[in-house]
Amino acid sequence: MARRAKVVIIGAGIGGLAATAALLRHGFEVEVHERAPHLGEVGAGLQLGPNAVKVLRGLGLEERMRQAACEPVNWVSLKWDDASLRFREKLLGEREAEFGAPYLTAHRADLHAALHSLVPERIVRLGARCIGVESRAGSAVARFADGSEAEGDIVVGADGIRSVVREALFGPDAPRFTGQICWRAMVPIEAVPTQVGPGGSVQVKRSEYVGWLGPTGHVICYPIRSGRLYNIFAGRVAHGWAEEGWSVPSTVEDMLNAYAGWNEAMLGMFRVASEVFKWGIHDREPLPSWTRGRVTLLGDAAHPMMPTLAQGAAISMEDGYALARNLARHDDADAGLAAYDRERAPRAGRVQLQARTQFENNRKVPPPPPTDRGWIFAYDATTDMAA
Ligand SMILES: Cc1cc2nc3c(=O)[nH]c(=O)nc-3n(C[C@H](O)[C@H](O)[C@H](O)COP(=O)(O)OP(=O)(O)OC[C@H]3O[C@@H](n4cnc5c(N)ncnc54)[C@H](O)[C@@H]3O)c2cc1C
Repeated sequence: MARRAKVVIIGAGIGGLAATAALLRHGFEVEVHERAPHLGEVGAGLQLGPNAVKVLRGLGLEERMRQAACEPVNWVSLKWDDASLRFREKLLGEREAEFGAPYLTAHRADLHAALHSLVPERIVRLGARCIGVESRAGSAVARFADGSEAEGDIVVGADGIRSVVREALFGPDAPRFTGQICWRAMVPIEAVPTQVGPGGSVQVKRSEYVGWLGPTGHVICYPIRSGRLYNIFAGRVAHGWAEEGWSVPSTVEDMLNAYAGWNEAMLGMFRVASEVFKWGIHDREPLPSWTRGRVTLLGDAAHPMMPTLAQGAAISMEDGYALARNLARHDDADAGLAAYDRERAPRAGRVQLQARTQFENNRKVPPPPPTDRGWIFAYDATTDMAA
């Protein structure tokens, strides 16, 4: 596709910014339209598997994120009630040796800022709420709430789980409540308990990734911000989710009530948490194709998934890079979009479904070993061999 072709991106989240950076790198003209008045990300942690780090490498951001993030030394799994050790597996250096890139844990705001640093201000329009899209012969148009329009050779919906672009392409449908709610919070690294288990028999390092697993939920904790902060993701089975919002403020008390009876060392850490937020986790069925005419999707707009494999943002960044690579490889936009669809929809759909399986497995007693993520980590969205 001609290098100066114009791509209009709707949404400046992690997926939209990764796509913008990759498209600029491949010589395309890009315009980004974001509904929020300011750019930024919520204060929470994010796991970046080797497949995500390979995208960051392709964008020239690997070193910056290695500095800002952490590479946990081990993966430790503890039993929810007595904190006995289920398993401890080496992480530091291991994923890089096996899959060609490390497993990092980061603050979402650091990742978002790194991607944002590659995007010139002049191509981002803030406060622009997309209300519809239309594919025309050889072009596409996005319409906005203020009456304005943006036309490009291609329009990309990177507008998250409640995507307007997806609805315009494939009709309305409600995201599915998955039966999981979760809290996220952060604590100072000094608050992490280091002596747990029966009689204090299990030593935990603050540089380790720790998962507490019980039949009603799991709590994932890891260091971020070069080891200065500790991120807590607490997921729990629930039968209903009444809130309209995607993420709502919560309290330490709410989180403690949800985990009553769990190990005291873990609850002690919850007690010093600040800024607690709560989510109802929704996903959707995999879509067989993401494209109609000159409009396509990426990220959560295309494949919202459960966080149980920690892959939503990673797959969104892969989408962004793969979109640029496929458009650059093909002389015409339609062929490039078709190749993008063929490459991405099956992979993302498989991860969406495995994330559900992982959720089901976590609830089994005793829980089976984690599902295989090797095929996810091995992938490199920056190379044509991924196609
Ligand atoms: C609790 C939790 C933990 C997670 N942990 C991980 C993890 O460890 N690792 C991982 O890889 N993933 C994780 N994820 C998933 C990850 O957060 C998402 O998959 C990822 O943020 C999706 O990025 P996105 O850019 O597609 O969508 P979003 O981040 O939702 O961005 C969409 C953007 O579009 C804008 N927008 C929306 N509608 C419009 C409109 N009409 N017009 C203009 N702009 C619009 C929004 O304001 C937003 O900026 C987690 C998710 C949750 C809920």
